Amino acid sequence: MALQIVAAQAGGSEQLIAIDAPTPNPGANEVRVEHTAIGVNFIDVYFRSGLYPWPVDQNLVLGSEAAGRVVAVGDSVSHVAVGDRVAYTVPNGAYAEERILDAAHVVRLPDGVSDEIAAAVMLKGLTVSYLINDSYIAKPGDTVLFHAAAGGVGSLAGQWLKSRGVRVIGTAGGAEKCEVARKHGYSEVIDYLSQDFEVRVKELTQNEGVDAVYDSVGAATMAKSLACLKTFGTLVCFGQSSGAATEFKIADLAVKSLRLTRPILFHFTASREWLEQASSELFELIQSGTLEVSVNQRFALSDVAQAHDALESRKTIGSTVLLP
Ligand code: NDP
Repeated sequence: MALQIVAAQAGGSEQLIAIDAPTPNPGANEVRVEHTAIGVNFIDVYFRSGLYPWPVDQNLVLGSEAAGRVVAVGDSVSHVAVGDRVAYTVPNGAYAEERILDAAHVVRLPDGVSDEIAAAVMLKGLTVSYLINDSYIAKPGDTVLFHAAAGGVGSLAGQWLKSRGVRVIGTAGGAEKCEVARKHGYSEVIDYLSQDFEVRVKELTQNEGVDAVYDSVGAATMAKSLACLKTFGTLVCFGQSSGAATEFKIADLAVKSLRLTRPILFHFTASREWLEQASSELFELIQSGTLEVSVNQRFALSDVAQAHDALESRKTIGSTVLLP
């Protein structure tokens, strides 16, 4: 038996409860992983609240990234073995001491990447990877705007984009977060609680606007994000921490021949080739010191409701992990 944290039904963090669940043997293509660290992400809040549809009627095990040790492998699995340190990102199932999952999602961890760091970057770091390598390919000399710059995804994105020669303007809520963002690659940071970020971006770009906006805030920012773009600019909408944007019309793109995309990480990680290539690049950037991963909040697995409350009330900076 192993401890799992489930959302009993869709709702607030009070729905998160601990249960004991059996730990079956893995099927032919599966592995059993004993978790050492589990990442907390905004997607967990979307599932818990019911914003994202549930694959089960009740008792959904949340959690979409984790690291740990392989404790059992199926007969057809050859790329990992019992005892290996591994990490993965898949939708749900990670808030548990142990779990079974398809071995195709699991990658081995190099020595220079700790379990805690891996649990903080598999979902968030691979998200930055596809955002800047696929959704809008950020090039040296570009200027881009990245919202929630001091968050888990945002603090990785600023460093990665800067290392590529991109000028990254960030937004963050409050002076402390703005200072954190500045230390994570952002050349200019706008406190969007006290300043109009559209006005400020126009000042910072001599009215030209930016090549791309990476927007995970949604309802509160989308219209102004579009207004911050230059002609032919790209808006990458990849989340809705303030709620889903509902006011958009296709004609809004015609004003400057804009592009809009709404990507999801798990469409990228479905390709084993992509997962291997992107995770090895991510681990190399961590090992070389190009990406510094800030794990600022740690909670016991059984205290996950506190972690959700902190994330939802904008109190977190950088990444949050649960320790079983
Ligand atoms: P963060 O650590 O970035 O936390 C979310 C941040 O959003 C908050 O800290 C806050 O920063 C900002 N925010 C703005 N308005 C609100 C609001 N009304 N309520 C709460 N937060 C608000 O989270 P993650 O790093 O886990 O994720 C960042 C975003 O990326 C999320 O929207 C997530 O869904 C998205 N995402 C999307 C993926 C995809 O494939 N599509 C994959 C991974 C993440 P501040 O106070 O500075 O405004």
